[in-house]
Amino acid sequence: MTRVVIALGANLGDRGSTLRAAARAIAALPGVRPIASSSEVESVAVTLDGPDAAKPRYRNAVVVVDTDLEPDELLDALHGIEDEHGRTRTVRWGDRTLDLDVIAVDDRHIDTATLTVPHPRAHERAFVLAPWADADPDAVLPGRGPIVALLAALGDDTERVDEPRLFDAIAPAAGAAS
Ligand code: ATP
Ligand code: CA
Ligand code: CA
Repeated sequence: MTRVVIALGANLGDRGSTLRAAARAIAALPGVRPIASSSEVESVAVTLDGPDAAKPRYRNAVVVVDTDLEPDELLDALHGIEDEHGRTRTVRWGDRTLDLDVIAVDDRHIDTATLTVPHPRAHERAFVLAPWADADPDAVLPGRGPIVALLAALGDDTERVDEPRLFDAIAPAAGAAS
């Protein structure tokens, strides 16, 4: 069983609905158990040329899950959820309906053709660190340190959206014990 941190992002379509639906789909994957989640933050789009205020703004969030899926199996499943939400892959860092990134898998370091963990840019992204700190304030980014310290050093340029945490918006299954 591994604990996995997943970052969600969207800047096209009904971003909040998409993030909530994606969190629901992640929680419903076989072999995945929801542990913690953030509410949403909003921030300016970053392109290969830098921040671009003319682009639709991003909504981002983070979920933490336990899973017995292998990391590459989980990544495949996340790509499937992206596809269900109309994700297209054209321009690097281009606009997208849904982006799901694996940020950390326990304190493992993975470097394959398709998966680098910890995510190599997580430490420099307030839109990852701020919602992650909302979901799990004591978290440590392997090789980098406590996420609240990383966020403080970086400066938090995200705006918190007044919505429930993503997993809190999932209705309990009918008949589930309360
Ligand atoms: P960034 O990685 O800077 O956030 P991006 O999310 O826009 O950029 P994508 O086009 O969504 O990049 O993904 C390109 C490829 O990155 C994916 O097909 C996947 O195989 C690979 N990849 C490597 N490491 C990871 C990771 N930790 N999480 C998700 N995808 C990863
Ligand atoms: Ca990404
Ligand atoms: Ca991605």
